[in-house]
Formats: sequence, structure tokens, C-alpha cells
Amino acid sequence: MFEKYEGTVVCASKYFNTDQMTKLYHQGIFHFGENRVQDLLKKQSELADLNITWHFIGHLQTNKVKDMINQIDYLHTLDRLSLVKTIQKYAFKAVKCLIQVNLTEEDQKSGVLLENLDQFLLEIKKYDKIELIGLMTIGKDNDVEETDRVFAKLDELANKYQLPLRSMGMSNDYELAIKHHSTHLRIGRKFMEFLD
Ligand SMILES: *Cc1c(COP(=O)(O)O)cnc(C)c1O
Repeated sequence: MFEKYEGTVVCASKYFNTDQMTKLYHQGIFHFGENRVQDLLKKQSELADLNITWHFIGHLQTNKVKDMINQIDYLHTLDRLSLVKTIQKYAFKAVKCLIQVNLTEEDQKSGVLLENLDQFLLEIKKYDKIELIGLMTIGKDNDVEETDRVFAKLDELANKYQLPLRSMGMSNDYELAIKHHSTHLRIGRKFMEFLD
């Protein structure tokens, strides 16, 4: 399905148990992204024999940082200064982070608003445990035009700030994301097709 895509396909594995994840692994999916700290830690211990690259893609509460920040390879959802400060406190080494940008300005979504992005980028420079490598965003459900706009915007911002990673595109909008130079698709439900 993603044979021609040159970026990284991260399986958003909140829908899958570790047996299903093992099946996907043996079909060539080595990157998994979890939304909840508890699930991440449980699955990591069950899948310790596999050489998985672990992404955290959900909203991260500061009181959970200590338990997981040294266990992941990428954090896609850096979105506020309190989180930055907590990571600075507990990380043993610099953590590869992407800033989640809320480009649709929906209230229920996390993420830094565009108007605050410049300032946030300036502030996090002081923290040596944050290795900023990219931006992440989520499209708008059932709105192709708006999703097209925000993916184009994320690409533009990543260029402007010279950040190599663009985490965008899910089961319903990955083609649009690829068009706008996504480097990391986060695919969940669509992987069910591989698992009969
Ligand atoms: C669940 C989830 C995905 C994957 O969604 P699908 O529509 O199932 O592909 C991607 N990103 C985040 C942040 C998610 O929570």
C-alpha cells in the first residue's frame, strides 16, 4: 500500500494488541506510535524482543513524562512550555521532538497555535534535552479542502524553520499528506486490512 512512499510509515497502534503488532512487524512495519503512556509501557515490555522504533503521538500529561520519556525514540506532540520543562528535568539525554501545531484552530485539538509558534520556538532553544527535528499536525475530519490547506501550511513552516520532519497524514488523508511532502505518516485503521 505504501510501497512507493519514501518516508516513514508509523503504525498508530492504539487499535492493535501486541499479537497484531507482531504480525505487522513481520510484514515490515518497524515504527509504532502509541497515544497513551500506560499502553506504551505495557506493549514495550511485551514486545521487548522486537527491534521497534517507538513514537509517542498522543497528548502527553506532564505527570507521565518521568515514566516514559527515556523509553521512546520520537515525541510527536510537544505542545507547551510546561511539557518542555518537565522533559528537561527527567530526560537522561536529548529527546527527538516534533512540535504539534494546531492549524485548524479547533478547540478540542492540542497543539501550538500558529500565532504562538515563533515565540515557542525561541523559548525551547534554551532547553538542551529538546532536540527539535520537526513539526506535526492533524487534518480536519471530513474536510478535504481544509486538510489540504493545513498540510501545505505545515510543509511551508517546516521549510521556513528548516526542520526536516513533517508528521502528517492518517488513514483518510495520507495521499494529501504525501502530496505536501510528509515524512512520517501515522496510519491506524487502514492497517486492519493487513490483519485478517
Ligand atoms: C489514531 C491516530 C492516528 C491514526 O488514525 P487513523 O485514522 O486510524 O489512521 C494518527 N495520529 C494520531 C495522533 C492518532 O491518535
